Formats: sequence, C-alpha cells, structure tokens
Amino acid sequence: MKKVILITGGSDGIGASTAYLAFQKDYTVCINYRQNQVSANKIVTEIKNRGGRAFAFQADISNEQQVEELFKTIDSQVGTISALVNNAGIIEPQQKLVDITTERLQKVFATNIFGSFFCAREAIKRMSNKNNGHGGSIVNISSMASKYGSPFEYIDYASTKGAIDTLTIVLSKEVAEENIRVNAVRPGIIDTGIHSKAGEANRVDRMKEQIPMKRGGHPDEIAKTILWLLSDEASYITGTIIDVSGGR
Ligand code: NAP
Repeated sequence: MKKVILITGGSDGIGASTAYLAFQKDYTVCINYRQNQVSANKIVTEIKNRGGRAFAFQADISNEQQVEELFKTIDSQVGTISALVNNAGIIEPQQKLVDITTERLQKVFATNIFGSFFCAREAIKRMSNKNNGHGGSIVNISSMASKYGSPFEYIDYASTKGAIDTLTIVLSKEVAEENIRVNAVRPGIIDTGIHSKAGEANRVDRMKEQIPMKRGGHPDEIAKTILWLLSDEASYITGTIIDVSGGR
C-alpha cells in the first residue's frame, strides 16, 4: 500500500512542487486547494498520466467544518493519511500595522494559523497509535519572516509564521510518544506567485541582493526538504525547524 500524503494549498507554488515530488517518492497524493481547481486538476492529471495516484479536494482550511469534511472525504475515498504538509498560506498587500484592518488580521490569522491547527488536529486523530493509527509525520511551512519579520510589509504574516514555529516545537512534544513527528521548513524568498498576489510581482528580484546566495529559491528546493523531513531518513528528527533560505 502506498502512503497517503495531504498537501494543503497544493495547487500552486511550493505545494505544487511538493505534490510532484511526493508522487516521485511513491506517495498517493491528495492536493487541497481553495479556488484554483484548474491548476489542482492539472497536477492530478499529470501525476495520473505518469502512473501515479492523485486526488484534488477543494476546502478552505480556515474553515473548521470544511477541514473536518476534507479529512472525512480522504478517509473514505483514498485511505488514512500518514503525511501532512501544512503548506497553504496567504500574504495581503504591503502595509504598516497602523493601517491593517481587523478584517485582514482575521483572514491572515485564520488561514495561516487556524488552518494549520485544524489540519494538524485532524491528522493526529488519525495517525496516533492511541487511536490505533500507524503514526505519521507532519511538516509545517513557516517562513524566515518569523525570524526577521517583514517591517512595513507584512507584520501580520510574519507573526503568523512565529506561531507556526511555536506550534511545531510544542506539538512535536505532545505527540512524540504517539509515533508522530512534527517539523517545519522556514523558506526564505522563493520564486512563486505569492508575491504577485500580494501586489509585488518582482519582489524576488528586488530582494535578491540581500541574500548571500544572490538569488531567490526555487519551490523544488523547499519541496526536497519537506519530503526529506517526512521520510524515514529523518526518523529521529522532531520539533526541528530547517531554514532553506540561501544563507539569509
Ligand atoms: P502560492 O504560490 O500563493 O500558493 C498558495 C497555495 O495556498 C495555493 O495553492 C492556494 O490555493 C492555497 N491556499 C491559500 N489559502 C487557502 C485556504 N484558505 N485554503 C486552502 N488553500 C489555500 O504560495 P507559496 O509561495 O507556494 O507559499 C506556500 C507556503 O510557503 C505558504 O505557507 C507561504 O507562507 C510559505 N512561504 C512562501 C515563501 C515564498 O517566498 N514564496 C517564503 C516563505 C514561506 P488557491 O490558489 O486555490 O487559492
């Protein structure tokens, strides 16, 4: 039986790269997306055409009910997951704190923090050996913004990633005896569509001189670290956060 992986926000960017690499590592791949059904279905079709097993499931991870339904659907249509990548995340247009509305805070915190908490909770219920599960591995996608912040740009986003770092460290201790590992990857500036969604398409170019390696990262470079952390190669690693950021 192939292992089943769920990648939230798997329709684009880092999540899409992770989906393709998970197929190459012989997982049955479940892609979650919020709205980009076309892209999610394209990835599923490509994996199937190459002989893999893949599924796309729409759900807004900031919505508790939709997350519960997502996991139930995967249980019944695919099988029990043993790997979760809490990848879905959003940035809003650049603003200082004084200008940030409550509505924006609620949206960013609900997606980036609540979404990861909801998905981790559902995954643990299924993975835990206390519930007759077979264990598993969770990788949360943080950001170097949790360390350096993004002053004048995304103080809310950076703060959510600080919460993801803390979630990773604390949850790893709560579930270590239940045969579940929890780790995180902290990407630096990665060349995906997230920057244009936040209103600055050339952000990677603007920022690259501040990166010791003088370039943005490729989503595949994050995906490789995610898949390694999920694998048995990392069997004694939990509560660890790996910076993948070109030295910054
Ligand atoms: P991206 O290209 O914008 O992709 C984001 C993905 O998340 C899309 O598949 C999107 O689905 C999905 N998504 C957004 N909100 C969702 C929701 N409420 N429910 C379900 N899915 C949702 O972003 P990315 O650059 O690959 O970022 C992926 C992760 O890496 C994020 O957590 C981000 O914070 C983190 N990260 C990125 C960078 C970077 O420089 N790119 C750096 C550090 C950390 P739809 O398209 O269907 O809406």
